[in-house]
Parts: sequence; structure tokens; C-alpha cells
Amino acid sequence: MTTTDTSLDAAATPPESVPEPADVRDPALDAARRSSSPPVSGLVASFRNWLTDLLMPPVCLACQEAIASRDALCPDCWRGVDFIGPPLCDRLGIRLPYSTGGIMISAAAAARPPPYARARAVAHYEGAMRKLVHGLKFRDRHEVRSLFGTWLCRAGRDLIEDADVIVPVPLSRSRLLQRRFNQSAILAQEVARITGLPVHTTALHRTRRTQRQVGLSREQRRDNVRGAFEVPRRQLGKIQGRRVLLIDDVITTGATAEACTTTLLKAGATDVDVLAVAIVADPLRITT
Ligand SMILES: [Zn+2]
Repeated sequence: MTTTDTSLDAAATPPESVPEPADVRDPALDAARRSSSPPVSGLVASFRNWLTDLLMPPVCLACQEAIASRDALCPDCWRGVDFIGPPLCDRLGIRLPYSTGGIMISAAAAARPPPYARARAVAHYEGAMRKLVHGLKFRDRHEVRSLFGTWLCRAGRDLIEDADVIVPVPLSRSRLLQRRFNQSAILAQEVARITGLPVHTTALHRTRRTQRQVGLSREQRRDNVRGAFEVPRRQLGKIQGRRVLLIDDVITTGATAEACTTTLLKAGATDVDVLAVAIVADPLRITT
């Protein structure tokens, strides 16, 4: 895979629709996709799309206003997403005030380097992005998965290029039963679908239900998730000697990503990168 497109800068202009990033698509995957679907003439496909739009007109994924394209945001909601583009801290993926050229490390990362190699997030966890994440997690608004997959592939382009396998942050068994799905696994599957990378949704396991992180300080969050993950023995072969791309929905203080990374490195991963749809800009003011 080659990566030639620039960053989320290109994504900062309000579109009517968000094109799939050709630079992160695997041609072999596309060919397989084409060969596995029945041949449909252009006329039939156009009629099918027209009929779908007539029965279910496309709406903005955040505010449900009518728009022209599916899997997209209206211009107002688009402007309400604070996309994170360069200059970035290479380790934490947070925005830096100015570029000094080359690979840049923030003061926070220099003072306390995370166990993962690099983290990247699509946007800050606020405004329309917060609404979209809440919709996916708490209101079963799964139609946002395609847009999130596209955005993740753009924000994580460099990480995807170096990754061998994709692993989502797991939920505890009880929370999975309660919610019926793991939103991070949905995101991981979308990235795998676009890139063709293998995804192992059961490689990382949560050993206990942790207290909700809401309202906990940075240190309390670390204590809360410490030792809460494991790679089951039968899954070790999927991790050993691999560079893992860990997918999460939101990076708050990074405590969960750090605990998962430590577990994956202990299991034999050569390195771990973290990719999320959102990052909390100011973790000291965590409210959700
Ligand atoms: Zn909208």
C-alpha cells in the first residue's frame, strides 16, 4: 500500500459526501469484493439507488437534516467537527501549536512516554463528533460506521501502513451482553474492510468489568484498568511478532490504551499503535 495523499487537511473542507480514500484501499480486496457480488448493470444499480433514496432519503448522520448524499454530514455539522491535522505530537497524536519540522514530540510525551508507539485520532471529542460517538455507543446508530471507517483510515494512514493486524479494545462480557455490540470492534472491522488488514476481535480479552471511567482522575483511571486485559493463550500466535493497530472509540487520558498496549507487548507484539475516532482535548475536564 502506498500513501500519497495528504492528511486530514483535505478533510477540512465541508463536502456534500465523503469519498472513500483510494490510497488506503487494497486493490486485491476490491477485486475480491467485485467478484463475490453478482453482476449488476449500471441501469439496475442506478434504479436501486434511486428507489432507496426515495424510500429512505439521505440525512445528516449527526442532526438528521435532509442532505444530498448518504453516509455524510450536513455542512453545519461538518464544520462542527474539530479534525486533528498536523502539526502533531508523533507519540500522543495531540495537536501542537506550530511545526518545527520532522518528527515532533510534545512536552507531555517527553515527560511521560506512553507504552504505545504512536496514537492518532480523527477529531476532538466535542461538538458533532461527540454526538456521532454517542449515537454509535448508546443509541445503536450504526449507520455512522462507514464514515468513521473512512475517517479512521485517513487519520491513521501511517499507522495502517506499518500494521500487521488490527485489534479492538474489548468490552467486558457483561457490558457486551448489555450493549450487544462492541463499538471498537465495529470500527476495527470497518478499517479491516477498507484496508484488507486482518482483524482479531477476540485477541484481547477484558478479564473483569472495570468501573466506568467517567469522573475518575487520570491516576484513578490507570488503577481502574491496570491488569484488566489479557491475551488468551490460544490467541498468542495472532499477536506474537506482529505490529498491532489497536482501535478504540475515544482516547480520554489514554489509560485504557496504555493498559491494552502493555498487555499486547507482554504477549509478544513487536509494537502497538493506537487509532481512535476521537480524543479528549482536555482530559482534566472529563465529563463523559
Ligand atoms: Zn447535520
